[in-house]
Amino acid sequence: MLIKKDPDTIQAYFEDSSNLKGGNADAVYVPENLQELSAVLKEACGRKAPVTISGGGTTTTGSRVPFGGTVISMERLKKVIGISREKMSALVEAGVTVEDLKLASEKEGLFYMCHPTEKTAFVGGTVATNASGARSFKYGPTRRYVKRLKMVLSNGSILEVRRGERFLTKNDPVIRLDDGTAITVPLPSYKMPADVKNAAGYYAKDGMDLIDLFIGQEGTLSVIGEVELGLVKKPARILSCFVFFAKEEDAWLFADDMRSACRRKIAQDGLILDILSIEYFGTEAVGILRKNNVNVPQNAAAAIFIEQEVEEGREGDVVERWAKFITRHNASVDDTWVAMNEKEVDEFSGFRYLIPEAVNEMVRKSGFAKISNDIAVPDSRFLEMMRFYREALEKSDIQHVVFGHMGESHVHVNLLPKSERELAAARDMALAFVKKGVSLGGTVSAEHGIGKIKHRYLEEMYGREGILEMVRIKKALDPACILGLDNIFQKELLSRGNF
Ligand SMILES: Cc1cc2nc3c(=O)[nH]c(=O)nc-3n(C[C@H](O)[C@H](O)[C@H](O)COP(=O)(O)OP(=O)(O)OC[C@H]3O[C@@H](n4cnc5c(N)ncnc54)[C@H](O)[C@@H]3O)c2cc1C
Repeated sequence: MLIKKDPDTIQAYFEDSSNLKGGNADAVYVPENLQELSAVLKEACGRKAPVTISGGGTTTTGSRVPFGGTVISMERLKKVIGISREKMSALVEAGVTVEDLKLASEKEGLFYMCHPTEKTAFVGGTVATNASGARSFKYGPTRRYVKRLKMVLSNGSILEVRRGERFLTKNDPVIRLDDGTAITVPLPSYKMPADVKNAAGYYAKDGMDLIDLFIGQEGTLSVIGEVELGLVKKPARILSCFVFFAKEEDAWLFADDMRSACRRKIAQDGLILDILSIEYFGTEAVGILRKNNVNVPQNAAAAIFIEQEVEEGREGDVVERWAKFITRHNASVDDTWVAMNEKEVDEFSGFRYLIPEAVNEMVRKSGFAKISNDIAVPDSRFLEMMRFYREALEKSDIQHVVFGHMGESHVHVNLLPKSERELAAARDMALAFVKKGVSLGGTVSAEHGIGKIKHRYLEEMYGREGILEMVRIKKALDPACILGLDNIFQKELLSRGNF
């Protein structure tokens, strides 16, 4: 096993895409198999030394930034163990990148639909954060695809969990390990928001599948070593298009209309509107496209990107159906771009990727933290939430970029302060957004998780008692309290006994 200690070499493990400063650790362990992983954890547990697990380092929440102790990097556990056409699944080690999973699946005529925009993320990282992406509108988040996990607990024990095999109930909340150890999971009473994509805190429900507890745990309960994921048949063809609007609100109404038509699944001429993604670009995001020499129409103040799987020969019918929505919402069919082949589809997806990358670059240059949100609300409250954002942003002079997964009533409002005064105002504004989102029945994190920077938001959602219930779950699975400290909740809460 490689152990890295050279300060210059290990510096790269002290950051992620959050721009959180001050990370440090004594060493980075790079295991090559689960036995080595287990041995490192057992040793760290004996010393009660904090361990931060490092995947691709693309999280925006600071959750992979260590503050002391050691780092375990999953970079050498990167074997694609097998792709099964029969079972429509992939078995991979946790350090395989999302891009490599996609390529390996495609060789077998299969597809992994659920991935974040950032393809250097590791599969283990996407499970640990319950990531989702543009196509989650149709295909849902990572959770839906996880069939089996092989993990190592903080004391070095190996735990394998298959979906559908073990359920946790209030009457029987016990996990039994192969060595006979029994772990009682104190099932919490907080209620997750209904009908909203959610990645905030531990998944919890009476009767829940045990595997769901480990999805979205942000490296606090176990180290995920191997993952079996469901795949789908590679679609024959994907058609995508960019629709431009002169007014932002027209884009919102277009998205709302398309979303509800998709949900109703009404067929016209034998064709169902079966959209994969409905992605939003607000005025500033359209500006970023312009700056990157993307030739958008002059009067465009917002854009929506949509994708749909199409059967061969039905492309024209799909475009015609889209055209009805486009004209109904004051956009021009002539100014709409349609990608008709795989190369163009990839090019359009690249435009989507430009936005978070450009935002991160702006943050690096400004030297001030980005204050961003990841709120999703029920579809029925989406327009109210968008209007709330607009009213607050219009009153402020803080630079901002709004984009995201509008199909799931989930947009990222990125506030980019340039002074201490603006930073304080941005924090207040973000908290007001969180309170509004929660009051509408939403979540404070639909896909990125809580990490080290959104503890306060999680408390808005579940209250202090909900957070303490999460602390109890962590202590049951990681009694030495060494894994992913300060992720999801403040580590100080762990030393408060059993309250
Ligand atoms: C440009 C850009 C675009 C993005 N777009 C999206 C998007 O569309 N959707 C989305 O959901 N996210 C998005 N993200 C965020 C990020 O890509 C995801 O959160 C991703 O799932 C993180 O994976 P990672 O391997 O990089 O994890 P890391 O950043 O390394 O770690 C994230 C967390 O997971 C834990 N972890 C990592 N590996 C393991 C493991 N094997 N076992 C246990 N815990 C582990 C870490 O300790 C940490 O807490 C984007 C980020 C960027 C920079």
